[in-house]
Amino acid sequence: MKEIILLKEGEIALKGLNKRNFEEAFIKNLRHRLKPLGKFIYTRSQSMIYCEPADDTIDMDEAVSRASKVFGAAAICRAMITEKDFDVITRDVMEYCGDELSCARTFKVQAKRSDKRFPMRSPEICAELGGRILDRYPRLEVDVKNPDVTVNVEIRDTNAYIHTGNRPAAGGIPVGTSGKAMLLLSGGIDSPVAGYMMAKRGIDISAIHYVSPPYTSDRARLKVERLCEKITPWCGDTTFYCVPFTEIQEALRDNCPEELFTIIMRRLMMEIAQRICEKNDITALITGESVGQVASQTMGAIVCTDNACRMPVFRPVIGMDKSEITAIARKIDTFDISIEPYEDCCTVFTPKHPKTRPTLEEVIAAQNSFDFEPLIQKAVDETEVKRFTIGSAQF
Ligand code: ATP
Ligand code: MG
Repeated sequence: MKEIILLKEGEIALKGLNKRNFEEAFIKNLRHRLKPLGKFIYTRSQSMIYCEPADDTIDMDEAVSRASKVFGAAAICRAMITEKDFDVITRDVMEYCGDELSCARTFKVQAKRSDKRFPMRSPEICAELGGRILDRYPRLEVDVKNPDVTVNVEIRDTNAYIHTGNRPAAGGIPVGTSGKAMLLLSGGIDSPVAGYMMAKRGIDISAIHYVSPPYTSDRARLKVERLCEKITPWCGDTTFYCVPFTEIQEALRDNCPEELFTIIMRRLMMEIAQRICEKNDITALITGESVGQVASQTMGAIVCTDNACRMPVFRPVIGMDKSEITAIARKIDTFDISIEPYEDCCTVFTPKHPKTRPTLEEVIAAQNSFDFEPLIQKAVDETEVKRFTIGSAQF
């Protein structure tokens, strides 16, 4: 028996003249994800991508799981490839869908005939095949509205395909079609979700993380590296920048008013991120901020942080509740790592009473009272770079 993965295009199908570029990007990403499993042959026709294993030793469960995390497809299914001969199709339906049909109470047949040379029309295929299924499983009943099992038969150009239905795929548009952005990745719940959401919109993501040893531990850093690795099945290969932030935080503690510590720290984080972006052709920042969640995420604080940014800052979870963000974190399997209790540099030297309504003037004046420039440049120069690839990821 030979199987194939069918991926139905989502938004890509609606792209006009650019459609081809999006399809090529999608196939390139798919190819990259599936390559470690063996060779596949990719074809496309009528807003569908066909992904056929070149040999039958390939682990198809794993292939489907990987393919369902590649942004750009709305639906995915695993189908059996068969001949365009009605008797053969009937035989193969009994074999391929037999387990599901024997457990079901109701079913229907859905046929699609895009090869008009096939002698039977779709309603005929449904009626005839439905009849043969009923002969074989007399306790089954037909239910066209809400069946337990839908047997799909698609007659296409070169082959016929049999499957029992589409499941939702990753959605979105292919990573790499919307430019590059830098994700400020902490060890928390929100920022990995923010990265996933922007990758879903086609953005190629790099990640930056700030560490303050000895106030933050190696294990805290490793936790963030694990998060970075965890999002690669969705986001693709990711470059990880780790910024030594201790000296800046100590200077901040020693030279700036305590209640403005967090807000100035965030402005300095943004400055460092932007310098690294500029060196690497990355043109936007992403954070996991959500309005009102903590003192540094009030409207006033965000105004002050934004003022330090020359590039757009994408905050995809800005209007979401923690419970909504958590639901996505569970779906992408980052939640269990995120809740491991390690310290973050944001929680080092945090003021007892941070200002929730700082004015921009007082923040800028306080920041300018000390010359951070040499320390910023040193942090940029000493940033460590690592690459997390799909190859090393666990799916
Ligand atoms: P998260 O759950 O993403 O950690 P949070 O609710 O803990 O968010 P904050 O600690 O205020 O909120 O951080 C807000 C955002 O700032 C984070 O979502 C992340 O984008 C960025 N950030 C915070 N700490 C760091 C860090 N150590 N390195 C990189 N980015 C960070
Ligand atoms: Mg955090």
